[in-house]
This record gives sequence, C-alpha cells and structure tokens, in this order.
Amino acid sequence: MEIIRSKRGSTKVCYEGYAYTKKKENTSTVRWECCKRRSHACTGALTTDFGITQVQIVCPHTHPEDHTEIEAMKVHSQIMAVADIGAPGQILDVMLAQYPEEIRAALGNTESLKRAIRRARTYTNTRSGQSSTEKKAVVDRAPTE
Ligand SMILES: [Zn+2]
Repeated sequence: MEIIRSKRGSTKVCYEGYAYTKKKENTSTVRWECCKRRSHACTGALTTDFGITQVQIVCPHTHPEDHTEIEAMKVHSQIMAVADIGAPGQILDVMLAQYPEEIRAALGNTESLKRAIRRARTYTNTRSGQSSTEKKAVVDRAPTE
C-alpha cells in the first residue's frame, strides 16, 4: 500500500493495482473510494486505520486492476513534486528516463505533462516553496540521459 499526496492536499492510496481517494474519517477508520468511481461507475472501496497500516476491502471493483496505471500515477506525483526545480522539458527528460516505456506511455503525452508541471509550479510558488534544495538533490542523483 502506497500513499500519494497531491500538491492540492488530497491523499490517495494505491493498493493491489487500484487507487483510492479519501472519502471520510470517523473515530477509528478512514474510508477510501475507487478513483474510477465516476468514470467506471465503480463502488470499489476499502477502509483503513488512521496510520493506513491495516486494510479491509469493503466493496469489489467493476473493472480489473491496472498496475501500470497505478505506477504511472505514482510517477506523475513524483514529477509534480519537483515541478519548481527547472524547465518542464528538462524535468521530464530527467524523470522519464528512469522509467520503462509502458509507464511513460501510461503517463500520456509530453505536452500535457508539461502543462501539468507548469500548473504545479505556479501553485508551489504562491505557497512559498518548501525544501527546494532537497527536491533538487533528488534530481541531481537521477540519470541525465
Ligand atoms: Zn474501482
């Protein structure tokens, strides 16, 4: 189970080839619903404890799991996390080189990724960028092919 936090503050969890968005919390558990709730009329859902260590599936999905898509979603959030360290084209060159072709294909076309980076960058700048040196270090270690 992996947790993705978007720049806009929403939290998603990835579990066994499905992604879930946080729906609600009560006193001891968090309810998560499938990200394809609308597009696939999916009622897939699970509950976790607050630490997201214990998972209970409460409702099955209407569509098969897709590990490539989930992996691409994680990569997308990693790319957006470094949106403010360079030009969108440079960021993509560095980040995408680390992943196989199928993941890059699942991420969609380069132009829309660049647009997403520019949006993420604007948002970060208005929020006073946090730890940009730390983010830069991540990319400096990445292959530059
Ligand atoms: Zn689903």
